[in-house]
Amino acid sequence: MIERTLCIVKPDAVEKHTAGAILAKIESSGLRLIACKMLRLSIDDAGRFYSVHRERPFYGELTQFMSSGPIVVGVLEGEGAIGRWRELMGATDPAKAPAGSIRREFGTNVERNATHGSDAPETARWEIGFFFAERELCSD
Ligand code: UDP
Ligand code: MG
Repeated sequence: MIERTLCIVKPDAVEKHTAGAILAKIESSGLRLIACKMLRLSIDDAGRFYSVHRERPFYGELTQFMSSGPIVVGVLEGEGAIGRWRELMGATDPAKAPAGSIRREFGTNVERNATHGSDAPETARWEIGFFFAERELCSD
């Protein structure tokens, strides 16, 4: 099934000038980048984006981190895009992500792990809509 998923290059990876290298890995994987922009989240917007985690102990630090500098947000499209993008990223904790994965190569720790990916079709739809209008998606 052709899916769409949200990708975010997080502030740690943008600051390290690795956004281009991460986008290059995405493109060479065969996933299509159908939208892309750079922006900085306010702490309130970061809180809304991660509201599913609001009860978790790391929520405050996570929203601080995600609003600490610019991010690059994009939409990926392709067969099984949600799972393929999560596989390319690797585990949440870069130390547990396989060699060659994006989080292993570009992440620092379980919080500053370089990238975000949606985890299911319903969350992907909501996350894409959080950042993009339908007319900004360059599909077909
Ligand atoms: N996170 C954290 N501490 C943790 C677990 C997660 O700071 O113990 C951060 C990390 O940046 C992660 C994000 O919260 O990417 C969302 O967590 P989730 O469990 O959804 O992981 P993901 O789907 O990003 O792999
Ligand atoms: Mg998640």
